[in-house]
Amino acid sequence: MSDKITEIFGSNVFSTSVMQERLPKKVFAEVMDVMEHGGNISIATADIVANAMKDWAVEKGATHYTHWFQPLTGITAEKHDAFMTRPEDSKTLLQLTGKQLIMGESDASSFPSGGLRSTHYARGYTAWDMTSPAFVKEMTAGTILCIPTIFVSYHGEALDKKTPLLRSMEAINTQGLRILRLFGNTQAQKVFPSVGPEQEYFLVDREKYLNRRDLIYTGRTLFGAPAPKGQELDDQYFGVIRERVGDFMSDLNQELWKLGIPAVTQHNEVAPAQHEMAPIYTMCNLAVDQNQLTMETMKRVATRHGLVCLLHEKPFAGVNGSGKHNNWSIGTDTGENLLDPGDTPNENLQFLLVLSCIMKAVDVHADLLRQSASCVGNEHRLGGQEAPPAIISIFLGDQLDDVVNQIVSNADSIKLLATGKLDSGVSTVPVLNRDATDRNRTTPFAFTGNKFEFRMVGSSDSIADANTTLNAIVAEALCQAADELEAADDFSTACMQVIHRNMTEHQRIIFNGDGYSEEWVQEAARRGLPNLPSLVDAVPALTTQKAINLFTRFGIYTPQELEARAEIMYETYIKVIKIEANTMIHMAAKHYIPAVIHYTTRLAQSINAVASACPQAELSVQRKLLQEVSRYLADASTALEQLKPLMARVDSIDGVKEMALAYHDAVVPAMDALRYPIDTLELMVDKSIWPVPTYGDLMFEV
Ligand code: ADP
Ligand code: MG
Repeated sequence: MSDKITEIFGSNVFSTSVMQERLPKKVFAEVMDVMEHGGNISIATADIVANAMKDWAVEKGATHYTHWFQPLTGITAEKHDAFMTRPEDSKTLLQLTGKQLIMGESDASSFPSGGLRSTHYARGYTAWDMTSPAFVKEMTAGTILCIPTIFVSYHGEALDKKTPLLRSMEAINTQGLRILRLFGNTQAQKVFPSVGPEQEYFLVDREKYLNRRDLIYTGRTLFGAPAPKGQELDDQYFGVIRERVGDFMSDLNQELWKLGIPAVTQHNEVAPAQHEMAPIYTMCNLAVDQNQLTMETMKRVATRHGLVCLLHEKPFAGVNGSGKHNNWSIGTDTGENLLDPGDTPNENLQFLLVLSCIMKAVDVHADLLRQSASCVGNEHRLGGQEAPPAIISIFLGDQLDDVVNQIVSNADSIKLLATGKLDSGVSTVPVLNRDATDRNRTTPFAFTGNKFEFRMVGSSDSIADANTTLNAIVAEALCQAADELEAADDFSTACMQVIHRNMTEHQRIIFNGDGYSEEWVQEAARRGLPNLPSLVDAVPALTTQKAINLFTRFGIYTPQELEARAEIMYETYIKVIKIEANTMIHMAAKHYIPAVIHYTTRLAQSINAVASACPQAELSVQRKLLQEVSRYLADASTALEQLKPLMARVDSIDGVKEMALAYHDAVVPAMDALRYPIDTLELMVDKSIWPVPTYGDLMFEV
């Protein structure tokens, strides 16, 4: 098996080593230089690279190529073009030119732009992101060469998630290097964030899925009573993987490995039919690309196995939803991890400085971080009684928490810590060492030894926004520290002052207790930490003066790009809830209510039949059932009749923000009001006439 992995791993990637093999030395060197230091390759070089890439892809069976990009829909986009020239132009029919490789023009008018384009042109431009390798995607329909690109407007505004991400990585690079130089590190040439996203998902049987309009249209169940068994026995988590699921996982691994995605971990998750896949971490932008590809591949491979992969954050009420744990660290090209406490006092001091900057970043921008993990499906996780709460806090674990306490209460303790003379109370020199045993599942942002784990991101969401924000806020805190330290006369005294100040001013962001508890909500309010339960509450964080200062300072977003993103989030919220509400109306009117009417009719007929056959027969059970079912039927019908005009009213509201708020405040509760009687009816009505597969069918029969 291991031989097989090495054989297939990355076989569908136009990797550095493939380029080295296939490109002339000089061309290869030029490409490498641009990949490492930025800039542009010449058109002559692009022609040579394009041709080599095309030959390689054609050998793999590709007939078409596409610029592969990540518009603000949160998923990826592609438009296939055949490698073809006009026959009379050339003897070689198959062609990919340098120009086609590095730049594409596409009609951007059907992608969300939040008004960015309307002022200019409908065109959008895609440009090759050379830091992310090209790859071929094998589909039943054919093999496609995919060229990862950014997507910008005519005036260079980002129309995608990748451009700001790359800009944020540049900010980490610049500010991280400043910090390293202050500590005398002259070796490192590059500082970059690394990310390992753990992806959760559900698998359901495709036949059953096709009988649920809600799953088809919205990716989640909008109705459904709990099955008699849920996750209460904890027998699913890390449980034995069923054969069919195992086949899927094995197939998925093969596909991911071919794409150079180092999928390593797979296990059953907490909820029935829920699973997880984790790859080995890699450079942030590549991790973002790979996660998009992973989600897409999961869906495709599931179909082959008669399954459907649900990436929605909350496919089923009453059991755990799915998220993405975004493991994040900052490292150097020389292999140093800035979040690794290290073995020497000097390393400890640098670690403490970086840690204090992260505390500051997360505290100052808690609202933005929460916003960065907002997507409509995540509404059911964040702020609910599961996953991380919507209040941002940092979990450090006992040992580090103790260290922070000591530093805050006594500034001199830093010196002792840094020289290894202070006993942290948990262990002695090296005072700070990794502690992988600390686990707190209720925290949104946890330190786990040499990385932070941001657990808020939704399972269906791109991880680009979360990492862009994380990079940006940390770059800002590092920048502020570097400004002060570069100007200081005595570096180490000044450094200790910064650490002490950051930790003291931002200690309120540290919380090691139970994030689900009501006490924490109260305590967080006392500490002044923002509590933004819904996406609609979080969106305004994008356009505060604080956010504008942060993002414009590092050239990550312009104020217009931020406005546009805020608008798109509201629009998306409206559209998703509207589709859900319409689907509920459809299912209630076409499936549930007719089925229940049918059932009551049958019940009434049976009561009449029994009564006429045996006038003395006891009929109170049937009558009571008929009465109760009829009552819930009436409730369902009333709720349905209220939802329809409500939506018409809300849709006529001016302004996307106002409309999104109305959807949140009025439509969502009206949807709940419709769901309740129907879920209640499901438990009363004969299963044989229930029009759709139940939770039990969906979660336990995979
Ligand atoms: P845990 O079980 O503590 O969550 P794992 O070792 O299983 O941690 O890792 C979870 C994810 O974190 C994996 O994708 C892994 O590659 C990634 N990861 C590990 N170390 C780092 C790091 N230094 N930076 C970023 N991600 C990391
Ligand atoms: Mg983890």
